[in-house]
Amino acid sequence: MGRFDGRVAVITGAARGIGFGTAKRFSEEGAAIAIIDLDEAAASEAAGKLDTKAIGIGCDVSNAESVDAAIARVVEELGGIHILVNNAGITRDNLLFKMTEDDWDLVMNVHLKGAFLMTRAAQKHFVEQKYGKILNLSSVSALGNRGQANYSAAKMGVQGFTRTLGIELGPYGINANAIAPGFIATEMTDATAARLKMGVEEFRKLNADANPVRRVGYPEDIAAAAAFLCSDEASYITGQTLYVDGGSKLG
Ligand code: NAP
Repeated sequence: MGRFDGRVAVITGAARGIGFGTAKRFSEEGAAIAIIDLDEAAASEAAGKLDTKAIGIGCDVSNAESVDAAIARVVEELGGIHILVNNAGITRDNLLFKMTEDDWDLVMNVHLKGAFLMTRAAQKHFVEQKYGKILNLSSVSALGNRGQANYSAAKMGVQGFTRTLGIELGPYGINANAIAPGFIATEMTDATAARLKMGVEEFRKLNADANPVRRVGYPEDIAAAAAFLCSDEASYITGQTLYVDGGSKLG
């Protein structure tokens, strides 16, 4: 028996990286999965790698029509929705004086508006059935990070959003929590290495050496914490942000 038998989980930005790692873990624990990503072909290919029933849906989480259509498809094709993981994300790093309005708007739209639209669409079903789990991806960058004024503001915004969801939705059997990952080896951090003109392995080693547990994180590290927070074992935990970062911000 898996912790997610009979559950349907929707995970955004899950064609790769942390989202895919989480989809894989939830599938291993019994959930049917909807992989949402910008590119439907990539989402479907990722869904095809899972062992339980899984579908891929092309959707831009920052577009209300696209989000509402995606949630309607999940309910029609998978029979309901019980878990939502707002994971889709992008970076547009630059020092403040070089940051464009587009860099700001894009990051806000994907992380904050995206989480809002997806949650608004899913909560109708959660409230009706008096059951739901929401997990939002924040970041250690919420605490401040040079070159990431947009991303850092969005990721701290995600924490405030999560706390408010906890207050508003708690009475309806819905838990909302956030995970703030530290350095996780994915295409997102590989792209940062390229921007800094460093090799991927060199960049990972630099981050591993600076971390109290002397390694970088992997999507599986986030997936394990996500599985706990979205399970019924965590039903007395809501509105919280769990830092999964090897202690990188301890001092
Ligand atoms: P990733 O490998 O870049 O994957 C992100 C996925 O989100 C991509 O498949 C991307 O699709 C998709 N996406 C982007 N914009 C979208 C939109 N508007 N609608 C739907 N999907 C969209 O990133 P990751 O490293 O796995 O990160 C996942 C989450 O964790 C993000 O929220 C990120 O901010 C957060 N996080 C990551 C780290 C880290 O070290 N990796 C640390 C802290 C927090 P395309 O490829 O088509 O753009």
